[in-house]
Amino acid sequence: MPQIQATPPPPQPLVYGYQSLPRIVDDPPSANTPPVATFAYSWPATEAYVTGENVKLDRAENDLRQVANADDAATQEIINKLIREYRSLIASQGTIDQYIQYNRFWQRAIVQERERFDQLTKLYDLMRSGEVDVAEAVREVLGQPEVPSFLEVIQAQPDRVVVHVPVYTDIEDEAFLAVAKRSIEEMWQAKDVDTTYSLEIQFRNVKVSDLYPVDGAPKPGDHIDIRAHAAHFPTDGAVLTTGAEYTHSFVGRYVAVGRGDLFKRTLAHEFGHVLGFRDGYIRGYRDLGEQGFEILELTSFFDDIMSAPRQGSVQPAHFRLLLEGLKKIQR
Ligand SMILES: [Zn+2]
Repeated sequence: MPQIQATPPPPQPLVYGYQSLPRIVDDPPSANTPPVATFAYSWPATEAYVTGENVKLDRAENDLRQVANADDAATQEIINKLIREYRSLIASQGTIDQYIQYNRFWQRAIVQERERFDQLTKLYDLMRSGEVDVAEAVREVLGQPEVPSFLEVIQAQPDRVVVHVPVYTDIEDEAFLAVAKRSIEEMWQAKDVDTTYSLEIQFRNVKVSDLYPVDGAPKPGDHIDIRAHAAHFPTDGAVLTTGAEYTHSFVGRYVAVGRGDLFKRTLAHEFGHVLGFRDGYIRGYRDLGEQGFEILELTSFFDDIMSAPRQGSVQPAHFRLLLEGLKKIQR
């Protein structure tokens, strides 16, 4: 039965922790995305998904037991069917892992920033009602970056603008850092009629022992409070660190990577947050009481890396907004 050997073993559940790094992988081919996509998830829905998959597993085990009493032809048929089902079970396991990651992360975020999510929920409901003017207004609100003061604009020639970004990191893997730098810089380029814009990252390596001079330094594999950890870094630069359940960022401050594969474009999107941009999509919620929240996402698709992390591009407008934001700070 050669098919079995070609089938990969079930994926190990991802174990996250301090100094655990993801693989940075090429972006998937872009799919056709509807103009406005909605997506909802919750613990009860995830549990129902798990229950459904357990039923399929029980059925597969049952089928396997039939092999004992079957003739050769019937055995071949059962085994072939089990191989097909095995592949779809593995795909579902990956999806369930993703749902668990999303839930862990966003359920907590809503508890921590309830007021902001209340506002976003109002926007979500307005957007769903289809009032186009509202959508326009929302895009403007989300488009104003909170530019951090550590960005520096280097304009050696009138038609070339380079934004210099110092980034402190306690990641020791130089190969990972090189790929991260290249991926972000390749994405963060734009050109309009008479100016080309680009980004230059300068990593500043810091030792974890220097971040925690007294004690309390995390060890590889530790589960850490990312915000508290990021607060140990100098403030005259951004931060790139590890230990997240799920790669995410804090506007104007840090990117924390998790273990799951990281698309280059997603990394560039997260880095957009460090530059001061908020998400161009809206995340609201419904309170489910003891069962947590139902999380509601609304993605308006524009060709904008902050609205569409999987397909969007960096536009000259992003750089213009950055330059305007920097002028405001310097004034
Ligand atoms: Zn984002």
